[in-house]
Amino acid sequence: MAKVITGVGCPYCGASCDDIEVTVSDDGTKVLEVKNACAIGNQVFHHASTPGRITSPRLRQPDGTYKEISYEEAIDRAARILVNAKKPLIYGFGSTNCEGMSAAGRVAEKAGAVLDNCASICHGSSFLAIFDNGYPSCTLGEVKNRADVIVYWASNPAHAHPRHMSRYSIFPRGFFTGKGHMGRKIICIDPRVTDTARVADIHLQVQQGHDYELFNAFRTVLHGGDIPDMVAGIPKEKILEAAGIMKKARFGTVFYGMGLCHSDGRNHNVDIAISMTRDLNEFTKWTIMAMRGHYNIAGPGVVWSWQFGFPYCIDMTKRDLVHMNPGETSSVDLAMRDEVDAFVNIGTDAGAHFPIPAVQHLKKHPWITIDPNICMASEISDLHIPVAVVGVETGGVVYRMDNVPIQFKKVVEPAGGILTDEELFDKIYERMCELDQEA
Ligand code: SF4
Repeated sequence: MAKVITGVGCPYCGASCDDIEVTVSDDGTKVLEVKNACAIGNQVFHHASTPGRITSPRLRQPDGTYKEISYEEAIDRAARILVNAKKPLIYGFGSTNCEGMSAAGRVAEKAGAVLDNCASICHGSSFLAIFDNGYPSCTLGEVKNRADVIVYWASNPAHAHPRHMSRYSIFPRGFFTGKGHMGRKIICIDPRVTDTARVADIHLQVQQGHDYELFNAFRTVLHGGDIPDMVAGIPKEKILEAAGIMKKARFGTVFYGMGLCHSDGRNHNVDIAISMTRDLNEFTKWTIMAMRGHYNIAGPGVVWSWQFGFPYCIDMTKRDLVHMNPGETSSVDLAMRDEVDAFVNIGTDAGAHFPIPAVQHLKKHPWITIDPNICMASEISDLHIPVAVVGVETGGVVYRMDNVPIQFKKVVEPAGGILTDEELFDKIYERMCELDQEA
């Protein structure tokens, strides 16, 4: 008899939907049907029970092929690599739970490693702006129930977070937003005519890389100043119209994406976005939120800030002096300078995302990939250790993009006795302690 599990969390994008219904086979090993998820989320659940999944660790052989080894041997090898390295880098955490992140933190501390997550190459610049200028944010529940003006700036949830608009921002009816879409104004600011721009009431097609100027124009207008007839490719009257709507909002939210973090200005764009939000609070209630990419990429920032005092780029190589300095202790910069002598890629794909010279430097040293799937990183690794898929084969706590913790559920048994990230890192830690004692 098939079993239906409700209230399941989707382990894909930062919207972290927790209303998924999954039907599993009566033996609890196969996902049969997924309801409520978008097309991407649906695939994540079905993919986990695909035949041919890697279920044993694989060790690179001298001829370049992989040989299956036991978990015990893989754990021993990983522990030895970390114990022997002078400056190992443990990077990733785009797709794991907080329990796995915390366990990896213990291993990193023991190894005297640099511990970093994907924010290092995506919303890390947001952190820098938030440190400087604060974060007048809110929860997605408040957006759903209160927001009558939404600004999507340099983000395209129609593709990157497919249910964001229907679950939280534009379409849902909330406590004070009973008319749903009819009661909301949507402003999209993006150089491209995206699918999000198509559903917006106003689309300001800002010139690529000129967001800072446009923010400045909004701030000037909000303070009663005058602006040129055209700013960043946008006519003055359009800016005045959008600013007027924003000032009259009952509750507004700016959702900003990677278009701000990765175009000219980077953290300065986010900084001025926060300042504009603060300006708007002189007239009414406004909030701002980063469109975080992965379902728990807010997690390492929370977990490691609690463990070590820093959210990313955490250098523990000096043991008694933990510090963070993006540019110096960030993964790509370390790799480009060929400063690390062992690399653990966990729950991400540095092989696909890092610049080629960075990958070439990392490849000179032992490279371990911890990931349920075959990816570019796994295929160039010396050691690939498969783990259970979080949100499908194991549960755990994840932090949604608004930093709200959600308990994700396990829906099927992990294939072939695969370990979870937490179990794997705990075992590596134990083995490192044994090796210490043997030395
Ligand atoms: S919007 Fe994101 S979290 Fe929600 S179902 Fe789709 S992929 Fe999953």
